[in-house]
Amino acid sequence: MSRSFEEAKEVLKVFFIHHYDAYIVGGAVRDHLLGKPVNDIDIATSARPEQVQAMFKTTIPVGIKHGTVIVRYNHTNYEVTTFRKESGYDDFRRPAKVTFETSLLSDLKRRDFTINAMALTIDSDIIDPYNGRCDIEQAILQTVNDPYDRFREDPLRMMRGIRFISQLGFKMPPKQLDAIRDLAHLLKNISIERLLQEFSKLLAGKSLDQAMPVLVETSCHHYLPGLETKSHDLFTAGKFDFNRIKADWERWCALVIILDIPDDKAFCRSWKMSNKQASFVVTHSYGYHLMKGQRWTSERLYEWGLDSVLAINRLISVLSPEASTETNLEIEKMWRNLPIKDKKDLNVNGQDLMAWTKQKPGPWLAGALKLIEGLILNGQLKNERKDIKEWVMACLKPKIGF
Ligand code: ATP
Ligand code: MG
Repeated sequence: MSRSFEEAKEVLKVFFIHHYDAYIVGGAVRDHLLGKPVNDIDIATSARPEQVQAMFKTTIPVGIKHGTVIVRYNHTNYEVTTFRKESGYDDFRRPAKVTFETSLLSDLKRRDFTINAMALTIDSDIIDPYNGRCDIEQAILQTVNDPYDRFREDPLRMMRGIRFISQLGFKMPPKQLDAIRDLAHLLKNISIERLLQEFSKLLAGKSLDQAMPVLVETSCHHYLPGLETKSHDLFTAGKFDFNRIKADWERWCALVIILDIPDDKAFCRSWKMSNKQASFVVTHSYGYHLMKGQRWTSERLYEWGLDSVLAINRLISVLSPEASTETNLEIEKMWRNLPIKDKKDLNVNGQDLMAWTKQKPGPWLAGALKLIEGLILNGQLKNERKDIKEWVMACLKPKIGF
């Protein structure tokens, strides 16, 4: 049993001391049975949110209405949710009504897939009313009870299913696929924020090559912004090794490039990415097209910064290996050898230039500094005040006509 589980059991103990039931549930149990590292641990309990708050010193009330409280215990956060039963998903966002239940079994029944509907007791027994463990062994992904009912209840589950195919490489039985095909149109009722979250996880999965064909064959992509007409390119995307691409927004950038999205800014906006995320996608896809097949120069490294250069270079090496010029290791070496890596490293500033030339500030200043940076980066000038001053007086002054 992993250390994180042993630590979580300490939390379960606190519930028992206070005469409440509590179990580790959901993704953590699944990942534990899969032998994967367990990230977040969710706990389901018979205690009500206010009782949970009273039991622990540090809690964060993230969703009291839905029964969720974050408990901080020994420097770790646990998402603790009161056993619940949901009914009615009128707005396709959140269950219209959440009824707190005292039983674990009804809590497991509301969960999406059998592999996510297991609980682990404090004694390490697995409670598995829907044979999730058997589905894990057979690598099968199916809903708890009838897929038509469960997908109608919360259509996001269809996207979650496809992202689990991508993450786990599991297969969905034909009845599940039929249900998704028949109900895919309900995805149009789901908020973009929830879709973005699942699609990002889908792109990060190890079995994207299995997930993309399911996405397209069930027509789910018809209800995802900007992907409606991209059946063929989505198949193609599944063939690239997205696992060599490091972060969420880098993978979105790869998608934009593969799908040849004409207006990437509008695409990011339609997925409601934050300005920061959208700007990452737009600049790095520009960088990809700019640098494909080109060698990285000192000036380009300096201009883009190491992180962006490595990201762009990864995109090139995964999406267009034939146009890849340097490896990331070579780039890091080039970076280490740069005489200046940032404006701060420059041994002179605008004040110096104004003092030496006795000129007022103006557009010439930025140009002059850029010129100096270029000469230093190309090894034509040393980053020493004395050398730079000599150059300014001998070359820059007459050139600008002071
Ligand atoms: P991850 O490892 O990506 O966090 P996860 O299975 O833990 O995967 P979460 O979104 O964290 O996914 O959800 C935790 C648990 O809550 C799930 O394992 C599942 O039991 C349940 N769950 C989450 N979303 C839904 C949903 N839309 N419908 C029903 N149950 C859900
Ligand atoms: Mg989780």
